[in-house]
Amino acid sequence: MNMRLIRSGLVLLAMLAVVAGFAAAVWRYGYDQALDALARRGEADLALAVDRLTGQLQRYQDLSVLLADHPALAPGAVRAPGDPADDVLLHAADRTNALNMVYFAPDGTLLAKARDLPDQAVGDLIHSAFLARAFTGALGTGHGVDMATGIRAYYFASPRFSPGGGIEGVLIVVVNLEALEQEWRGDRPAVFFTDADGKVFITNRNELLFWRRGPGEGLTPPDGSTPEFAWHDLGMHEIWAVNWGPYIPRAGLHLVRELPQIGMRGEALIDVAPARRLAGLQAAVVALVVLAVASLLFWDFGRRRVLARANAQLETRVAARTAELSGANMLLRREVIERQEAEAALKKAQADLVQAGKLSALGQMSAGLSHELNQPLMAISQFAENGALFLDRGNTSAASGNLKRIAELAGRMGRIIRNLRAFARQEHEPVRRIDVVTVIGTALEMTEARLAKDGIALDWNPPDGPVYALGGEVRLVQVLVNLITNAADAMGGQMERQLTVSVDTGPRPVIRVADTGPGIAAPERIFDPFYSTKEVGASEGMGLGLSISYGLVQSFGGTIRGRNAETGGAEFTVELEPWRGEAAA
Ligand code: ADP
Repeated sequence: MNMRLIRSGLVLLAMLAVVAGFAAAVWRYGYDQALDALARRGEADLALAVDRLTGQLQRYQDLSVLLADHPALAPGAVRAPGDPADDVLLHAADRTNALNMVYFAPDGTLLAKARDLPDQAVGDLIHSAFLARAFTGALGTGHGVDMATGIRAYYFASPRFSPGGGIEGVLIVVVNLEALEQEWRGDRPAVFFTDADGKVFITNRNELLFWRRGPGEGLTPPDGSTPEFAWHDLGMHEIWAVNWGPYIPRAGLHLVRELPQIGMRGEALIDVAPARRLAGLQAAVVALVVLAVASLLFWDFGRRRVLARANAQLETRVAARTAELSGANMLLRREVIERQEAEAALKKAQADLVQAGKLSALGQMSAGLSHELNQPLMAISQFAENGALFLDRGNTSAASGNLKRIAELAGRMGRIIRNLRAFARQEHEPVRRIDVVTVIGTALEMTEARLAKDGIALDWNPPDGPVYALGGEVRLVQVLVNLITNAADAMGGQMERQLTVSVDTGPRPVIRVADTGPGIAAPERIFDPFYSTKEVGASEGMGLGLSISYGLVQSFGGTIRGRNAETGGAEFTVELEPWRGEAAA
């Protein structure tokens, strides 16, 4: 149980780790994509800011070039206070919102100015590089804090050429950068322009003014402090992490654009927080979806495992049960075979017994039979002798009477012998319709001699018609012969000897054989094989007669019973199956 819990916990942890890893990958990919988009937009913003600055400066540059050729600045014009040249310049400066306009002669003499300026400022201009450059015939540019006003300014110095090609003078237009900045202060994104020295000179974020490029890539303020700065590359992008005040993004995409035309570099810091938020959102959604799917899979897996375990248990149980059953089946089959063998052996033993019983009965009957056959033989020879005498005397009618008697006697002998032959034959007679009355007649005929010898009176009143039953004729004769001889045996020492045979036609035909003997000594044992109360060695007394009869009666669906009658003597009944037609047989 504990192990399972731990394993489930581990699987859960692994799953969470996989989901976290996946979410991180998604976040990174989303962030990269968002940064790309941000960079494109930032580049456009920076380009716009640059264009605005350079466009405005270009106006002043063009102005300086055009104005340098103004006729009022021609060498012939009078140089004196109230000079129209000063008016022209002031007028132009006012119209264009320039800080000042100053015109110098090649020797450094200040020839004209829009507004007054202190001598030191004039000196600065005279020693400036852009003025020197203009005197070489090129356009001079520069920037700095204007001495006269303390305002950040951009300078354009344009030479004025004489018709002969020489330089007559240089006009300096002083541009008010702060006025230009005014329009886009606070705009997004944060933009700043650094000069060749790495100093921020123009920006829409006032707080960055005059910051310098530090030893690293970042900027440091002029007061010498080192505010937080770090940077790293992310693919093609450079990210600055700074803490420079509320209006500078703490994490910003750093973009750069070189501006050689004004000698500066435009830079922008674009807040990456929205990109991070977007990437975070994407990662969260993906993580949630993955987590949901994983939970579903996990749940399904668990359910399947439980099912599989139950299935496996069931299968082992089924296998065990099947093995048990097939074992039992094998035993049963073996038992069936054994039983079949036993049955066959029994049948064989029974057949042998029947035959033995028959022979025994024949033995018992032999004395009576010889008498039975002897008597008609004697009579025949007597009738034949007498018949011959009758013929000698010519008394043919008497002779013919004798011959008829002889024929009758021969017929009777033939019948007895036929019965004996049928009785002794070892055959498998079929069960079929028999007439019980005829069968009784045959049995009585075969035992007639015996009964006569012992002086036994027979009480047999056959019914008028036949009584049909299901059975084997020879077998039933054998049973009845056995019962009759047993009765005769039992009445051997009795004064009154009477054998009663009757047929009950009821729903089931019943044959009754009763005697006036001493009765059965042990009724419950009489059907046991080899049970006999008769002397061993006597012609009778094998103890098999009744047990064989029992088997015979059973073989055609009947029952044999023996009991002591209330009036004394033994009474045997043979109950048979009634004949119900050919189909039932
Ligand atoms: P066996 O006649 O060879 O003894 P049976 O099986 O025919 O063998 O009979 C078994 C025994 O049943 C006889 O020994 C006898 O004791 C008894 N028994 C059979 N029939 C009668 C009868 N009618 N009256 C009295 N006892 C009988």
